[in-house]
Amino acid sequence: NRKFLLAQRPEGKPDDDTFELVEGDVPEPGPGEVLVRTVYLSVDPYMRGRMRDAESYAEPWDVDEPLKGAVVGEVVESNGGGFEAGDVVTGDLEWADYATAPGSELTAVDPDLAPISTATSVLGMTGRTAFFGTREVAQPTAGDTFVVSGAAGAVGSVAGQIAKMAGARVVGFTGSDEKVEFLEDELGFDAAINYKEADDYVAALAEAAPDGVDAYFDNVGGPITDAVFQHLNLDARVAVCGQISQYNAEEMPTGPRKLGQLIGKRATVEGFLVWDFHARFEQANQQLAEWVQSGDLQYRETVIEGLANAPDAFVGLFEGENVGKQLVKVGEE
Ligand code: NDP
Repeated sequence: NRKFLLAQRPEGKPDDDTFELVEGDVPEPGPGEVLVRTVYLSVDPYMRGRMRDAESYAEPWDVDEPLKGAVVGEVVESNGGGFEAGDVVTGDLEWADYATAPGSELTAVDPDLAPISTATSVLGMTGRTAFFGTREVAQPTAGDTFVVSGAAGAVGSVAGQIAKMAGARVVGFTGSDEKVEFLEDELGFDAAINYKEADDYVAALAEAAPDGVDAYFDNVGGPITDAVFQHLNLDARVAVCGQISQYNAEEMPTGPRKLGQLIGKRATVEGFLVWDFHARFEQANQQLAEWVQSGDLQYRETVIEGLANAPDAFVGLFEGENVGKQLVKVGEE
């Protein structure tokens, strides 16, 4: 059984020295525990925060201890954990071929509902983040202009489509021409801006959102957010979901620099955590699954093969290697 440990805390962008792959025995499930064979492992931007020794909403990982993340896998053995061998489950498990967890911390995945990988993507944490962040925090309504940064990622791509279903004009910021095409041609965004090519975000946004911005779903922060703040309309709502452009920063750049724009516009800026909506996860999943099945909601996954490549998959998030949800395929379905 292979598993990844946090070898050392990264400074700046994580690299090979951050991770250590070790081999050992397949663990035995203790009383109430379940042994799970990993099929898909999710890598997520928030994990960068867990590599830091600082207080945050997600507890820091200890050096020389296993990394953990959302896993979809197959139950191999259940020691009174409430599952049977062969069941498909999801939970927060080690980056490993096999791992154990209390059965009470695992959730059953219905393989007939959708491909099981979706339990970490559109029907998992990122889909629910998009669902609640859009509907409850950013709250776009018909005729509004909704802007999302990190638009082609797991959260952003779903958020934009949900805003579209609410009748908004949807504009995304993303990092390549291929992603612009994906958003405009496949997901039905009204416009997308390749921020790596645009010299002037304010001008690009003036063109893409000529009526100003009523709701902004922020996944990235930094200069993109500065530009959006300059286009907010009266009573605009900003949902602060993530700030990925800052996660590897060794020193925080000054900012946000355009807070003055919020004054005249009486704008509301609200941070949120998907976990805040925990009591309504099932409701969100029902709606998301319905949209996926009806074809109203498209989703994309980028899958890297092999547990050994999990660090590359993780670091790739900061380089925009992924379209939609970044996953690692660890074992056969
Ligand atoms: P994504 O699938 O969106 O992957 C990250 C994407 O961010 C990359 O593909 C890249 O796309 C973009 N990116 C990376 N660096 C930069 C940069 N410097 N400037 C602009 N864009 C950048 O990840 P998720 O969908 O999982 O997460 C999106 C955001 O939501 C993250 O900030 C995450 O922390 C946050 N989040 C918050 C939750 C909450 O409860 N509040 C829950 C889940 C996620 P590109 O090619 O466009 O650069």
